[in-house]
Amino acid sequence: MDLKHIINLLQQNDDIIIFPHVNPDGDCLGSSIALAMALTNIGKKARVIVEENVPSAYEFLPGLECLEMYKEDKSNGQLAVAIDTGDRKRLGERARLFDRCKFTVNIDHHKTNTSFADYNFIDASKSSAGEIIFDILKSMNVKIDKSIAVCLYVAIATDTGGFRYSNTTADTHRTAAKLMEYGLNAGELSSRLFEVVSKSKVLLTAEVIKTLEIFSGGKIAFLEVNDKILESAGAVPGDCDGLVNIGRNIEGVEVAVLLKEIGNNEIKANMRSNKYADVASIASFFSGGGHARAAGCTIYSHMNKAKSMLLAKVREVVE
Ligand code: 5GP
Ligand code: MN
Repeated sequence: MDLKHIINLLQQNDDIIIFPHVNPDGDCLGSSIALAMALTNIGKKARVIVEENVPSAYEFLPGLECLEMYKEDKSNGQLAVAIDTGDRKRLGERARLFDRCKFTVNIDHHKTNTSFADYNFIDASKSSAGEIIFDILKSMNVKIDKSIAVCLYVAIATDTGGFRYSNTTADTHRTAAKLMEYGLNAGELSSRLFEVVSKSKVLLTAEVIKTLEIFSGGKIAFLEVNDKILESAGAVPGDCDGLVNIGRNIEGVEVAVLLKEIGNNEIKANMRSNKYADVASIASFFSGGGHARAAGCTIYSHMNKAKSMLLAKVREVVE
């Protein structure tokens, strides 16, 4: 689908609901809020509907007043826009509201996207949804202000790990440079996003490191977290973001996995790879998805079984 069609839909509809994915990250939140602010500025009713609280790391974002907590009712909207959302399941409870809207749009950069909306724009060459939203706002000729620029910069910076990951392109840098021209303080944002950590996250990191297991002669690293570990560190599930990188950063590791016990029979896996392993294909095998170097899935089984199933699959790809 051409980006022009998506832009036409945004221009022709006045009641727009924006949907970030569940377990929201910097990219989906920054992109969603930026789009909502830009559409509000041109006189449209635009809301971002979420079903979880904003992780504390992103509470500093401007424009949080665009967010609305999801309520289970029969309301609907004219145009639904899912952002950074690889499949319908990632809309969580809000999938029903999404389906009730007159037109549905899906804007994403995951190669595993299932094109679940009426209109789908997927560009896997983009580092982040933030880059796509920037292009949309530019093509629509709507005003970008400093708040919108901060949100888009956060979206791009977080999905590229501060412009370090292999999804960072020359275009990514060009877009970030243009965003900096709106007067944002990149140094301060980087410090907030990548350096400052809560004490509970430091304590959690210490506990999670103790669970490290290495397989396949050093090429695979597994880490684990559960409620007991979270409690002992005084941490919340959002504090687990990024912990999988502890495994990935170990010299010689190709694939790192963080397994989070959500319930007795529900394990969320976050996966990362370094050079060649396509973790999106592993995640897809377990009905998840993502990118070649960063992906995730949920396995409905207890921890030991989930671990052995996932390890077998990772071994196939790594060895
Ligand atoms: P993270 O490990 O940071 O949560 O996710 C890594 C990447 O995989 C992100 O782009 C995220 O959107 C995607 N991802 C994580 N979990 C899932 C999942 O369960 N399903 C799908 N389709 N994508 C996922
Ligand atoms: Mn993203």
